[in-house]
Amino acid sequence: MDVVAHALWAGAGVMLARRRCAITPRTATATVALAALPDIPHLLPVVGWSAFGAGTAATVGGYTLAGPGQEPALPPWVEWLSHNLHCVAHSAIVAGVLTLLLWLWTRSLWIPLLGWWSHIVVDVFTHSAEYYPSPAFWPITREGFDGWAWNTPGFMAVNYAALAATYWWLGRRRRRERESART
Ligand SMILES: [Zn+2]
Repeated sequence: MDVVAHALWAGAGVMLARRRCAITPRTATATVALAALPDIPHLLPVVGWSAFGAGTAATVGGYTLAGPGQEPALPPWVEWLSHNLHCVAHSAIVAGVLTLLLWLWTRSLWIPLLGWWSHIVVDVFTHSAEYYPSPAFWPITREGFDGWAWNTPGFMAVNYAALAATYWWLGRRRRRERESART
C-alpha cells in the first residue's frame, strides 16, 4: 500500500486503541512513523548514489514510481542493497525476531512495533504477483502472496473511500463524546 495510506490507517488504529488503553502522544507518533518507515530504507541507496555518485534526481523519481521491469538502470551494489533493505523492512521473520528480543529485554511489548507489523501484514495483501509481491517470509523465501495491487485505480478508490469513512466516523464519535461530557 502507499506510504500515506499506511500512516493514515495506523493513525486510525491508534485513535481507536486510545479509547481502551493509555497511549501517549509520543507512542502514537512513533507507531504512525513505524507504519510508514518500511518504505523508506530501500530508497536510501538510490538517493545516496544520486547525491554522491553518477545518479540524478530523475533516477530517484524514476525508481520511486517505476513498475516491475521499468526501474532505471542502477549499479549492481545499489540494486542489491535496495532490494535487501526492502526485504528486511517487509519481513515478518525479521520483525518477529526483533519483537521477541525487545520483549525479552523489556518484558513488555513496545507498542510502536505494531505500526511496523501493520505495514507488513497490509502489504502482503496489497501487492500482487505481478506488482512486487511482499517478501513477508524473507530470508526463507522472496515469494509473496498474490493480492490486490495497491497501485490499481480500483484499490486506490476503495482504500481512500474507506479511510475517509473511517476518519469521518472517528470524528463524529469524538464530537459526540465531547458533547455528552459537557452535558
Ligand atoms: Zn511497503
